[in-house]
Amino acid sequence: MEAISSTSSSLRRRAPFRCYYAEKPVLVVSWTPDNPGRRFYGCPNYWVGRKCKFFQWRDDEICERGKVLIPSKGNGLSN
Ligand SMILES: [Zn+2]
Repeated sequence: MEAISSTSSSLRRRAPFRCYYAEKPVLVVSWTPDNPGRRFYGCPNYWVGRKCKFFQWRDDEICERGKVLIPSKGNGLSN
């Protein structure tokens, strides 16, 4: 059963240490229609005008269950 532990560790992605401007990326939750609730690492400078293009998804995909649950939270938006 040792093979299981070694496989599971490879599934986890490490957070990026530095972006193109040598800043520490921050974890952000995306709420775009295409990627509701997905988390990614972005550059803190993006919001202060430097427009650093650093971008990396934290998760490969959200689970199928999550795709269903997230839109249900925003009933007030759909009218
Ligand atoms: Zn940056």
